[in-house]
Amino acid sequence: DPSVLVAGETLVDFIPETPGPLPDVETFHRRAGGAPANVAVGLSRLGVTPAFWTRVGDDPFGDFLRGTLEAAGISDELVEVDPRAKTGLAFVSLDPDADRAFSFHRDGSADTRLQSGRIGDDRLESVDWVHAGGVTLADDPGREATFDLLERASDAGATVSFDPNARPELWDEYDFADSVDRAFGLADVVKTSREDLAAAGYDRELDDVELVRRVAEAGPHTVFLTLGSAGAVAYATPDAPWFGDVHRSEDEGGSSDEVVRHDGYPVEAVDTTGAGDAFFAGAIAALSNGGSPAMALEFAGAVAAVTTTEPGAMTALPTREEVALFRERFEG
Ligand code: ATP
Repeated sequence: DPSVLVAGETLVDFIPETPGPLPDVETFHRRAGGAPANVAVGLSRLGVTPAFWTRVGDDPFGDFLRGTLEAAGISDELVEVDPRAKTGLAFVSLDPDADRAFSFHRDGSADTRLQSGRIGDDRLESVDWVHAGGVTLADDPGREATFDLLERASDAGATVSFDPNARPELWDEYDFADSVDRAFGLADVVKTSREDLAAAGYDRELDDVELVRRVAEAGPHTVFLTLGSAGAVAYATPDAPWFGDVHRSEDEGGSSDEVVRHDGYPVEAVDTTGAGDAFFAGAIAALSNGGSPAMALEFAGAVAAVTTTEPGAMTALPTREEVALFRERFEG
């Protein structure tokens, strides 16, 4: 089995019971969240249990999150408990356009305090895949710890994956676009969205294929662009180990890169929180087990679609069997 290491924040998400601006919300549901935590639990459900390097506070919310990770079968070996910082919290609201907005309570919270060097080079030598996201790049020391991990993982020959996960609310000290560019330069595999890329300064006028090409120019050999209910696109350059497996693109110019598209699965979505993370977990599970980008798109799309049919991000993440049953329904 592939050895996967995921790093980054575990947070408590407070999801409003009713839509509307945050000052008007009275009742919230407590949910375990944080994009890397969702990816880690997603992988675990899919039978690719990763090591997960994260940090929570020595407080009841941290206890809840540790219990959630433990219940998902994730070892507590790299789950740090910070005696001097609180567990990070995120209050979510739905604005009138049904876009999610976040009110983060994570100034100096435990998840911002990962320290460089905690994961030794010897350990990284034995890891096949290392995954991180953009949220821990917003504040030091977690920022340098995340970059340090990605740099050393790349040097050690692991496949490095990255999700920019744009959260403009979190970025005051560093520039998001520069940070994403640096992370793309270290990554082999990126999953992103048009929203992420707009926040990172990419031209909104570019079409999907132009966008994934542009991302690949910044470093990664494989790029997934998720498109909500419209599915996703995968792109690989000749540097990708699975390059020969992707459908050759027929586009203008006849270049040697390859693009494949999946239109998604028509489901009755009730909560798309964490759909992107579910997708990335599915893609990592597929690619790290020798799947092609086309197979990864189909599988990851199914993992993500199942996740949208139940409330909550983590609780709805499916097992491999649940994904297989779901796909049988759509693919006959
Ligand atoms: P997040 O908002 O969680 O960060 P994201 O913006 O990265 O996510 P989306 O593009 O919204 O991710 O969704 C990721 C994947 O989830 C899509 O590619 C698709 O496979 C699936 N998905 C999302 N929304 C729906 C939906 N309404 N119906 C079916 N599938 C969906």
